[in-house]
Amino acid sequence: MAQTATLGLADVQALARRIFASLGFGAVDAGILADTIMRAERDGPRSHGLFMLPAYASSVRSGWADPRGVPNLERPRPGRLEVDGGNNFAQISMARYRDDLIAAARELGVATLSIRNSHHIAALRGDIEPIAAQGLIALMFVASRLWLAPWRGRRRVFGTNPMAFACPRPDGPPIVWDMASSAVALTDLRLAASQGHAAPADAILDAQGNPTTDPRAIESGGMLLPFGGHKGMAVALMVEILAAALTGGNLALEDQSAKTPGAMSARGGQLMLVLDPAGAGGASFGRRVAMLIGAIEGNGEARVPGDGRLARRAAAERDGVTVDAALLDRLNKLG
Ligand code: NDP
Repeated sequence: MAQTATLGLADVQALARRIFASLGFGAVDAGILADTIMRAERDGPRSHGLFMLPAYASSVRSGWADPRGVPNLERPRPGRLEVDGGNNFAQISMARYRDDLIAAARELGVATLSIRNSHHIAALRGDIEPIAAQGLIALMFVASRLWLAPWRGRRRVFGTNPMAFACPRPDGPPIVWDMASSAVALTDLRLAASQGHAAPADAILDAQGNPTTDPRAIESGGMLLPFGGHKGMAVALMVEILAAALTGGNLALEDQSAKTPGAMSARGGQLMLVLDPAGAGGASFGRRVAMLIGAIEGNGEARVPGDGRLARRAAAERDGVTVDAALLDRLNKLG
């Protein structure tokens, strides 16, 4: 029997849409979330694509996330869009208010979209690229579940707290990178555990606070470590403040998901900060971004951060993606 199957991106999207619809999401929202899954399969990281779908299902079926929750926007100040995400997934709020955010940034030069009472377990790159594709710069911060110990600490304090950056590039696709504050993304660790691989050194501690490379330690009281030691801890702290303390979402320390069996997402917050570069730095912004890119490309083995997604995208659009047959079987039973 074949161990893998090849799916076109339209098949991935249709499969995901069907599952989200069967979980109770409305047609538009199921399409938005299916797009999130398809983008991760296409651009990477695939750990946040079809492999992540059971986590969405688990959060919904446990009653922790509400597939029918409707976001609500308030605008307390010019350039500040504040959303109650209705206990639904944050992509739905972002898709609904993206045009308002872009319009505010164009008018005022800078605008923020903050979302609370919402869930986010996806790769950030898919959310942020559409902003830069409209000629704007964006930064994004997401507060997640309690997994990360501070550098040299022995107890969890932070989520894996990812952040992302996107910027228009003259004559090319936007620069887009995103990354966790942890040395290794939790989902990649779970994928490593499911495939029998070891975790990198300096990435996790066991429940007693001892270093280990056994990815299974994370499921029995272990904790993740920040990337780059004290520097990653500083980033995790910043993300926690911007995405949770500022938005009104839950800090990782306040997260109640562990008390709901099956909950796989934090009701943390998300912050998107958008800047309009028009007129900035005189007329030289685009030219100087191009100068930076030119200095990276062709420089030994260096490449522009995030450009790996473009090669993966081209391959996935051409050849489709190879999906593990056991995962496909599991997904087909989901909905
Ligand atoms: P990686 O360390 O794999 O990659 C971080 C960034 O660096 C990516 O943009 C990647 O893009 C880029 N990159 C990788 N290798 C190179 C290289 N050699 N040269 C230049 N750039 C490079 O990411 P993480 O493991 O930290 O995070 C994985 C994903 O998990 C992210 O998408 C993140 O958003 C997501 N995440 C989501 C969470 C949530 O709660 N929603 C929580 C934590 C993580 P590319 O390879 O395309 O160039």
